[in-house]
Amino acid sequence: MAETRGHRRQLRHWGWGYADETLTAAEREQLQRLVATVGGAGDAAVVPPQLHEYRMPPPRLQAPDRLDAIVSTAAYDRVTHAYGKSFADLVRLQLRDVPHPPDLVAFPRSEDDITAVLDFAAGCGAAVIPFGGGTSVCGGVEPDVGGDYSAVISVDMQYLNRVLEVDRTSRAALIEGGALGPELEAALKPHGLTLRHFPQSFQFSTLGGWIATRAGGHFATHYTHIDDLVESVRMLTPQGVMESRRLPGSGAGPAPDRLMIGSEGTLGFITRSWVRVQDRPTFRASASIAFPAMAQASGAVRAISQAGLFPSNCRLLDPVEAVMNGVGDGRTALVVLAFESADHPLDAWLSRALELAADHGGSWEPAAAHSGEQHRAGAAGAWRSQFLRAPYYRNYLTPAGVIADTFESAITWDRFEGFYAAVRERLASAIRTATGADGIVSCRFTHIYPDGPAPYFTFYARGTKNGDMVSMLARWRDIKLAANAAVTDLGGTVTHHHAVGRDHRPAGYDRQVPHLFRTAFAGARQVLDPAGLMNPGVLIDTPLRGATCGGVLRGTLLHDAAPPAPGER
Ligand SMILES: Cc1cc2nc3c(=O)[nH]c(=O)nc-3n(C[C@H](O)[C@H](O)[C@H](O)COP(=O)(O)OP(=O)(O)OC[C@H]3O[C@@H](n4cnc5c(N)ncnc54)[C@H](O)[C@@H]3O)c2cc1C
Repeated sequence: MAETRGHRRQLRHWGWGYADETLTAAEREQLQRLVATVGGAGDAAVVPPQLHEYRMPPPRLQAPDRLDAIVSTAAYDRVTHAYGKSFADLVRLQLRDVPHPPDLVAFPRSEDDITAVLDFAAGCGAAVIPFGGGTSVCGGVEPDVGGDYSAVISVDMQYLNRVLEVDRTSRAALIEGGALGPELEAALKPHGLTLRHFPQSFQFSTLGGWIATRAGGHFATHYTHIDDLVESVRMLTPQGVMESRRLPGSGAGPAPDRLMIGSEGTLGFITRSWVRVQDRPTFRASASIAFPAMAQASGAVRAISQAGLFPSNCRLLDPVEAVMNGVGDGRTALVVLAFESADHPLDAWLSRALELAADHGGSWEPAAAHSGEQHRAGAAGAWRSQFLRAPYYRNYLTPAGVIADTFESAITWDRFEGFYAAVRERLASAIRTATGADGIVSCRFTHIYPDGPAPYFTFYARGTKNGDMVSMLARWRDIKLAANAAVTDLGGTVTHHHAVGRDHRPAGYDRQVPHLFRTAFAGARQVLDPAGLMNPGVLIDTPLRGATCGGVLRGTLLHDAAPPAPGER
């Protein structure tokens, strides 16, 4: 077997994490409890797929000499670049079926290498997909581009991973697009600086991926979206370089950054970006507050968000979410509240937020409100470690016959209550219809704004007990489409930070944004990528080449699922 051309520690090719990582004994126990609660297959052993078991068509392209040293056709590279990390991706990896792998995976060392890949692709009619960490959960990196391309080249940015310059005076840093979260933080640390952008996928996702998808970090307010941290962007398009000017702000017409941020690999490669960095926080204060009902908890969060306090964390966990995260008693809603600063103590901020919480019926144990370094103790600490470990559970839930997925939206406060109730109701009903059994639906807020929250829904539903992953995928698809439709119908956004990709177009993005805007975006794309090479089917159709949104929600479910056997639901 050919060797990978990558330089990083080997990833688990069939799931989340590094190949040599496992769950702790305590985590395994918790996992078994979760599987039993949802009615999965109990102790189903995971039989990890071996690379040689994957059914893949052979590469349709051979790299020219110029690219030979940076291009791979190794099975490990083709499989790890065939999917992102959504539930559907994990199922399809378990199925050992990869009908649309990239024909080639390129590992450029420089912008010149990327240009050479683009020239080669243009010459032979191949599609090109920028690949950061591959943590997309919406089909953003999937090489399912339709039949009008001769082949697909996935371009992995992992060698462009350096922090090139630090401007201490302006507190900004120039960082390459392929840098993973831990890589860039490690390089900033000696300067006493941090980007402080911590999505749950931080360990395995990249700066270029964050910018391309408008990622949201785990802080609830203020500087947490990558949009606000970007000072300028350099993008290499098929037509050449487009680079915005470094400025703290500007009123000079429509901003070039606004076109590049969120472009999801459809316009070009984000090769580097000046980003706003911050001093590392040293002051902290936190509290965990219980509320008798969701309405009171959301009222308190609204008051806090409108008081100008800007907590770093203000996670509202509804009663189901709290229990699923190992905190709460199943009746109360919880708010995990935290403040951080590199400049000043935060006791006054915490006190005022607690006053607002008390006004809405919130209560807390005195021991659960901390300032200083103790802030990681208590429910906040438990929640944080659960948050970072949660993705590892998905590797085992899928083979155990549990459908587990999440989706996020945002809605203004005036519509939140109705939205929360209706989304849960429609999702519960979709789960019953798809699986014949009740599922579990929970919600938390990931981000809050003065004008509304970003609710993040998690659902667990029964897959199949006999390991029939094809039926499980069909059930998931029905539920996912219902979720896309519910949040869009009810006036929310189909995604708050997971991006659009291919999976959020049906029933969602295509209905959400104005038709004229999509036409204007298509025009911009036509200028930057006239041959329609870049990530076809993501965000918009590529009519020139016949590419429409492919992926698991449109057209390429591997086989038509057989209806579940009687009594098997
Ligand atoms: C367990 C889990 C937790 C997650 N938590 C969060 C979260 O907290 N917040 C959040 O926002 N998202 C989250 N995500 C989603 C995902 O991590 C983000 O969308 C992330 O920004 C993707 O970064 P990446 O480097 O992995 O990009 P990839 O998955 O490789 O690519 C994503 C998209 O960006 C494009 N792209 C990637 N790199 C470049 C580049 N250099 N230039 C141009 N285009 C590029 C790709 O073509 C693709 O369309 C999570 C995903 C998982 C699996």
